[in-house]
Amino acid sequence: MFDYPEFSRDLLDAAKEAEEELAPVFRQIDDISEANQYKVLNAFRKNRIAEQHFNSGTGYGYSESGRDRLEQVYADIFHCEDALVRPQITCGTHAIYLALSSILLPGDELLYITGMPYDSLEMSIGITSCAMSLSEFGITFDHTDLAGDMSFDFDGIKEKIKPNTKAVAIQRSKGYKKRASLSSEYIGEAVRFVKEIKPDIIVFVDNCYGEFVEIHEPTDFGADLIAGSLIKNPGGGLAPTGGYLAGRADLIERCAFRLTAPGLGREVGTTQGVMRLFYQGLSLAPKVVSQALKNAHFLAAMCERFGFETSPGKDETHHCIVQTVDLGTPENLTAFCSAVQASSYVDSYVACEGSDMPGYSDKVIMASGAFISGSSIELSCDGPMREPYTAYFQGGLTYEHGKYAILSALSKMLARTQDVDK
Ligand SMILES: *Cc1c(COP(=O)(O)O)cnc(C)c1O
Repeated sequence: MFDYPEFSRDLLDAAKEAEEELAPVFRQIDDISEANQYKVLNAFRKNRIAEQHFNSGTGYGYSESGRDRLEQVYADIFHCEDALVRPQITCGTHAIYLALSSILLPGDELLYITGMPYDSLEMSIGITSCAMSLSEFGITFDHTDLAGDMSFDFDGIKEKIKPNTKAVAIQRSKGYKKRASLSSEYIGEAVRFVKEIKPDIIVFVDNCYGEFVEIHEPTDFGADLIAGSLIKNPGGGLAPTGGYLAGRADLIERCAFRLTAPGLGREVGTTQGVMRLFYQGLSLAPKVVSQALKNAHFLAAMCERFGFETSPGKDETHHCIVQTVDLGTPENLTAFCSAVQASSYVDSYVACEGSDMPGYSDKVIMASGAFISGSSIELSCDGPMREPYTAYFQGGLTYEHGKYAILSALSKMLARTQDVDK
């Protein structure tokens, strides 16, 4: 192990022990990465990807073969009928709203079965009133919480499925909530359960942060439609923007009609030069996700050594790339995020402090020094400034970079506490 001159012997020894302890976990992560790389490579080969597919058109973007091929590659990777992968899908929230607003019609109900949805969707759904929300179109919303923050409340779900429940939504990753992330296989149990009650129900999965974490994806277990962001896992750190949807062909067609216009659908939308980065990012994504997962485990292992509560625990299976640590004090959270910021390739000199954010009641502190603005497959860390001062850490395109940032964050935080003790 490299002896970083700036860290204490104790910290370096702890890191060495943590890595030795994690060796079997890291081997499992490598196995998953290998299987996923094989799956991605095969999808590229099957679709005969060539240099010409990296080109973009102009204007309407008719017959852009690179765009259409990439959608087939995504469909093959997710083992489903069709996919929509576009720079015009601007982010994860947009991809999810696009999916929901395409499958739900006035009078239909949407049932979330993983608790309240990700914060940024509250306006899209109309939980917080907003123009153009689903609620404004007469689509109602209900939810069931996860029992013990980790398992589906099957009785509650059964009670809440009504004749007009058109879609059931599942958020795979914990996102910024204190709860477990869910495995694709477990999501499959919910798919079977709700379809037994109402066979025509559409199961939608918010797949953000979950892609390539496991060998299987929710579509392998019967999810009808999934959505995610390309500046997270499947963009592999290279995609400069974009989102994807994958699933049943009839649903993807509706989404394409919603994204552009009925009748035009997927036939239009020029890709404006991003295709090579979409392809190359996807080819790297299994490896990049494995690096982010190793960072998550290393962070958990190190923090547990120093007495902080982590979720998931270092030996627990991770179902998404988000790792949380309860740091206990505002000073710790600030020191931690500041050190992550200072460990970034970009904006390393920028100070990090909590600030007000639209839609949040507490101040939020964020560390992000990414090549792609806001990318959270790159090293990033944030948290609300409230008890128990939880840091949400994710990404890191390489394990080495994440490891350095974690050591630096612990070193700064522990030095500060020791100063206070004196
Ligand atoms: C990131 C994320 C979203 C929203 O994606 P944005 O790209 O930030 O709009 C939705 N759900 C989950 C679980 C996420 O992690």
